[in-house]
Amino acid sequence: MHTVLAVLNLLGAGLAGLTAGLVWRRRAGSPLARPLVLTLVGCVVWAVVRSASTLATDPDVTLALDYAVYPAVALVTASGFWYLMVLAGWRSVLDHRVAALLAVEPVLLVVVVLTDRSHGLLYRSVGQRLDGRLVTELGPLFVAHAVYSYLLLVLAGALVVRAMSRAVAGHRRVYAVALVGGLVPFAGSVVSLLWRPDGVTVDLAPSLFLVTAGIWFWVERYGEPAGLVPLSTRQVLAALTDAVMVLDPEGRVLDVNPAGVRLLTRASPRRRESLIGARWSELVPADIRVVFEGAVVGGVPLEGQPARTVRAPDGRSYEVRVNRIMASRQVVGAVAVVRDVTELERLRAELAEQAVRDGLTGLYNRRHLELVLLEAVVRAGSAGTPLSAVMVDIDHFKQVNDTHGHAVGDALLVKVADELAGGVREADAVARYGGEEFVLLLPGSDATTAAERAETWRERCAALRIATADGEIGVTISAGVAQLPPGGTGELLLRLADDALYAARAAGRDVVVVHGSAPARR
Ligand code: GH3
Ligand code: MG
Ligand code: MG
Repeated sequence: MHTVLAVLNLLGAGLAGLTAGLVWRRRAGSPLARPLVLTLVGCVVWAVVRSASTLATDPDVTLALDYAVYPAVALVTASGFWYLMVLAGWRSVLDHRVAALLAVEPVLLVVVVLTDRSHGLLYRSVGQRLDGRLVTELGPLFVAHAVYSYLLLVLAGALVVRAMSRAVAGHRRVYAVALVGGLVPFAGSVVSLLWRPDGVTVDLAPSLFLVTAGIWFWVERYGEPAGLVPLSTRQVLAALTDAVMVLDPEGRVLDVNPAGVRLLTRASPRRRESLIGARWSELVPADIRVVFEGAVVGGVPLEGQPARTVRAPDGRSYEVRVNRIMASRQVVGAVAVVRDVTELERLRAELAEQAVRDGLTGLYNRRHLELVLLEAVVRAGSAGTPLSAVMVDIDHFKQVNDTHGHAVGDALLVKVADELAGGVREADAVARYGGEEFVLLLPGSDATTAAERAETWRERCAALRIATADGEIGVTISAGVAQLPPGGTGELLLRLADDALYAARAAGRDVVVVHGSAPARR
């Protein structure tokens, strides 16, 4: 039986060594590789030395080999702890100080092993059976060593369980598999600790490492628990300034990039790890939550949802886009991308504003006036309120251009435009209709009121002074006023106002004429 065990242990050692070689080559890309290699090396030494001690016949050699197992066990414990910590997402905790602390017990153990025969704290007594097997009575330091080793591994195991409970469905399996892998030799070592027929150690652990090696190799190679997603994807995501969140079908965060962490933790700064596995509904800031709610059911985005832009209370604008992630024709999750589009929105608004304004005067342009007119006519029709238009033309404007130059002409246009814009009410609209023609839409004003208001604009324009190289000049305007006839269109209203303006010019300019009335004598 002992020979069979020795052979099995050696077989385990061979496989563990082979696995260590394979894993070592992956050390650059996988944080699990180094601790796994160290654990496997410890296993190889453990198994080989144990087999040798089982097969040896000389009592002194057997005892020496038995002692030699201890450093290997300590190495397996410490590096197994390291492996499980990395797996549980505690990689950042494992600095040089922690490594030095982990080395304390193995070093002490080596000292104890070397000096044990003088104090007997590890093996209280050592004897030999008739068949030559080593019989040992375990001392207090053995118990201390066993307790320490088990506590360390139980602690790491507990952290893995915790990480597993926080992981999303797809990742849990990996943690569970890794734990089972660790439990197999753990259980084996408990058995060999409790079951010592006639004080002889039956060490099953090295054989069982065969199983662990295979399982942990699988985890290192194919498992992708949270925190160990391939580096390249991580780096790409980290480089993005857009916030990227990957959700599972239940709406839990599978992954989030640094920009995403910043966005999600605006209110309360938290570590990325604490966001993984949490539901988006608990994380997404209130101001952009509404967009998510409209786009996602659980974690599954509704099909054909366009990107949406929301304005947060802090004045910033965010564009939110949620897309499905499909695998084998099934929705396996969603990727949400949130982009700060504040500057873009400002530019867009500016462009939109520019599109409706005249570049020189800042008044509405003719195209926009036509739109506003259409709405005003409909509103006046349904509300039964009057709507009037005043068409204004600068008198002898061409002469100003010809005499004083285009720049003075421009300045004059701006002055008149400012005068008109300054004299209107909220509901009114002022537009530059043509070169030196303006239209004022006055909802709620009938022709008489409109004419009165036009008269004040005429007077105020007449009072304007424009500086030129040859001294100040003045300006006069002519205005035609019309009220929308019942059932009339905007086009008709403008034509009537234009007719009145024509009459005003014909009457000698610098005058206001209401459509259908004779020009006022001045
Ligand atoms: P009337 O009294 O009969 O209205 O004659 P007018 O000279 O005021 O009008 P006319 O239609 O004969 O000439 C308008 C001029 O306005 C012609 C054009 O060169 C000039 N103009 C149009 N747009 C601008 C502009 O943006 N800046 C300047 N400086 N001149 C402009
Ligand atoms: Mg004109
Ligand atoms: Mg003119």
